[in-house]
Amino acid sequence: MAGIVVVFDFDKTIIDCDSDNWVVDELGFTDLFNQLLSTMPWNTLMDKIMEEIHSKGNTIGDIAEVLNCVPIHPRIVPALRTAHALGCELRIVSDANLFFIETILRHLRIEECFSEINTNPGYVDGKGRLRISPYHDFHRAPHGCPLCPPNMCKGAVISRIQGQISNKKLIYLGDGSGDYCPSLKLGHGDYVMPRKGFPVWDLICKNPLLVKAEIHEWTDGEGLERTLLRLIDGIMSEEDNSDGSLVSAADCKFQTISMAANEAFPPVLPVPQ
Ligand SMILES: [Mg+2]
Ligand SMILES: [Zn+2]
Repeated sequence: MAGIVVVFDFDKTIIDCDSDNWVVDELGFTDLFNQLLSTMPWNTLMDKIMEEIHSKGNTIGDIAEVLNCVPIHPRIVPALRTAHALGCELRIVSDANLFFIETILRHLRIEECFSEINTNPGYVDGKGRLRISPYHDFHRAPHGCPLCPPNMCKGAVISRIQGQISNKKLIYLGDGSGDYCPSLKLGHGDYVMPRKGFPVWDLICKNPLLVKAEIHEWTDGEGLERTLLRLIDGIMSEEDNSDGSLVSAADCKFQTISMAANEAFPPVLPVPQ
């Protein structure tokens, strides 16, 4: 077992769209969604829209069918499978909901790669309506983080994970502004992989010194696979070397990879095409 925990955002990181928007758009509720967006928190709105979707005669099967068609880059599933096969522990931290995520992971046949999914609860009630509730009960126990939406502070999830894993290394991947808080929680020796050109990347670029983890950007599924497997390979060879006390030249080079330069390094692991 590698001493590596890889934590993934879900929307626009594992899949290549926002699953909430995808379901709303595909089932024809975009106008209603946009009308109501300014009147309530996103998470509350998704629960409300699910009520509308149900009342217009759409079944849970209809929602699942739409979820099974979400766009995903062809290298993502192989990347996840390889990371899992190398002994990394994979977890998800997402502001989507459990029903959407489990449905998609099951369809992709990668459910078993993940040991933990941290997200907004989602369940089908007795009437066949999908109910979505907040991860944090923000009325009874607000998380108090000014960076995050009231329903979920991903940084709080990362802090809990850090308490569980002692000296394992964390790699965090995400795209959205909600992925900034957890990026700030990572420590020296951890790695953050922000998606280039997306909100978390913009936020990190404003002041990279606030981030203690090494920063390695990626653009698409191919870049995600290449960068993630290179980082895992680097950490695992460091682990091997730490049995002897010598630090190899490769480790020193590895430590100096900058955000801008990281794409220039070739992948260390063979990537099956
Ligand atoms: Mg995302
Ligand atoms: Zn937060």
